[in-house]
Amino acid sequence: MTILGSGTCVPSLKRSSCAVLTRTGDDILLFDTGAGTMRRLLEAGVEIFDVSFIFYSHFHPDHTGELASFLFSNKYPDGSYRKKPLTLVAGKGFLKFYENLRLVYGHWIELDANLFNIMELDNINYDMRRFDNFKVESIPVEHNPESIAYRITGAEGVSVVYSGDTDFSDNLVVLSKDADVLICESALPDALKAKGHLTPSLAGEIASRANVRKLVLTHFYPECDQADVEKECRKTYSGPLVLAEDLMTIEFR
Ligand SMILES: [Zn+2]
Ligand SMILES: [Zn+2]
Repeated sequence: MTILGSGTCVPSLKRSSCAVLTRTGDDILLFDTGAGTMRRLLEAGVEIFDVSFIFYSHFHPDHTGELASFLFSNKYPDGSYRKKPLTLVAGKGFLKFYENLRLVYGHWIELDANLFNIMELDNINYDMRRFDNFKVESIPVEHNPESIAYRITGAEGVSVVYSGDTDFSDNLVVLSKDADVLICESALPDALKAKGHLTPSLAGEIASRANVRKLVLTHFYPECDQADVEKECRKTYSGPLVLAEDLMTIEFR
């Protein structure tokens, strides 16, 4: 798994907007595609044409901003570079979101119908789908009406949870139960807690309650780089802890 963007909406040379790359079987998956995702993918040695699934946590631009560019770039030079289908997965409302993008960009962002799917998951209740190489589970979290967190479990049983943006969420605890890795937002230091977001100690509390094997904190606003994020997280969590940096690779198992 590679952190492509550990940042937010705030322009930063160090932290690109949100995106995480993970692989299972032959599939290359992304969580979110904030601005800078395609550049970071190149830096991670991955071609855009090889991405087969993108999971969107919600529709804020720091998580979806590069979608239109990603689709447009997949058509260059004539769409023939993409051999495998691309499936976009998101909470309810995403079809409308995509249709609205199409109203703006028209055929410039339309991929071949045989190579393009959209799948909406429930934004009110737990949801689950099975694919060839993995299973995806989702659950609503506390941020936007469409916000969902994901749990991907590969064929060998390794599971990774991606929180997206959220405030404290019992649902996220349930979804993360005994996961190998929880990639959790930790937007602002404890002293600057904002509604709809977590802090290091709240993220730690979720990880502890869920008994995850490893916690990766990400989605750092610049204020986090002035705080002792690790120390704040250690108030509530004592297991393996990683503070995300762009292009950091995280091994599990
Ligand atoms: Zn957001
Ligand atoms: Zn965000």
